[in-house]
Amino acid sequence: MKADLHSHSFFSDGKQTPEFLVQRAIENGLSHLAITDHDCTDALAALPADQDRLVVIKGVEISCQWNSMEVHIVGLFISPQHAEMLDLLHVQQQQRKLRAQAMNDKLELLGIHGLSAYFESLPCISYTRSHVADFLVMQKICKNRQKTFKSYLGKRGKIFVKSNWCSLTKAISCINAAGGIAVIAHPGRYSLSKRKLEQLADDFKSCGGEAIEGSYSNIDPIMQKYLRDLALSRSLYLSAGSDFHDANAHWTDIGKFPALDQQAQKNAIWLHPKWHS
Ligand code: AMP
Ligand code: MN
Ligand code: MN
Ligand code: MN
Repeated sequence: MKADLHSHSFFSDGKQTPEFLVQRAIENGLSHLAITDHDCTDALAALPADQDRLVVIKGVEISCQWNSMEVHIVGLFISPQHAEMLDLLHVQQQQRKLRAQAMNDKLELLGIHGLSAYFESLPCISYTRSHVADFLVMQKICKNRQKTFKSYLGKRGKIFVKSNWCSLTKAISCINAAGGIAVIAHPGRYSLSKRKLEQLADDFKSCGGEAIEGSYSNIDPIMQKYLRDLALSRSLYLSAGSDFHDANAHWTDIGKFPALDQQAQKNAIWLHPKWHS
C-alpha cells in the first residue's frame, strides 16, 4: 500500500484536472489518493465513483484561524454533501472572492489591471493567492512566484489583504460532522516554535482533531522525527501527503515524500477505524 493524502486540482490552486491526478497516482504506483482542494470539494463530484486501480479518498483543506495565526486543516473521508460542510465551504469561498476583489482594487491603484478578468477565465472555484501570483508573473511584474509572495502577497506585501477564515474549532467540528478525520496540514511550515506547535496539537486534539501530517514534500528529517514524536506523545494519528499542485513542479510530484518510519507506522492513519469502514 502507498497513500498520498494531500493534493490539489484546478478547482483550487492546482494546475491539473482531477482525472489527471488520478492517472498520475496510478502511474506513480499509489494505492490511495486523497484530493484535498483549498475550501472546495468540486473535484470529488467530477470523478467517477469507482476507480478500479486506485482508492480515491474524499478530502478538503480548510484555511482557518488559530490565535490570530493561519493554519490549514485537512479533512479526510468527508461527505462533501453534508449540509454543515456545504455551508462552511460556501462562506470560505465567498471570503476568497472578496479578498481577490480587494487585491484587485489595490492592484488597480498601482496601475495594474486585469486580475478580476483573469480569475473569470480560470476553472477554479476557490480563488487563491497562487492565482494572483501567476497573474503577476504573467504580467511580468515579478520574476517568479516566490518574489510575488515577498513583495506583493505576503504580510508585508503591497497588496496584502487580511483573510477572514473560520476558527480552528469550526473547521474541526465541521469535518467531524461530515464524517471525516481532521488532520493538521504541514505543521512545520507555519514557522511556529516547538512550544506553539505543542499548544496547537493540544488545542487541536481537545477540539476533536485526530491526526497530523508527519511527512510531506521537502520535509527535513529533524522535523519529521519531531512531528512523529509529537503525534506519538499525544496519541494522534500520522498522515502523509505530497501537497501536489502541478506536475511541472517535479519536486512535489504525487507520491513524492519520505515514507513514515517504523515508529510512526504504529500510529499511521491507515490504522484508523474509518480507513476500513
Ligand atoms: P491562499 O490560501 O489563497 O492564501 O493561498 C495560499 C497558497 O499559496 C498555498 O496553498 C500555496 O499553494 C501558495 N503559497 C503560499 N506561500 C507561498 C510562497 N511563499 N511561494 C509560493 N507559493 C506559496
Ligand atoms: Mn495551495
Ligand atoms: Mn496548505
Ligand atoms: Mn495543500
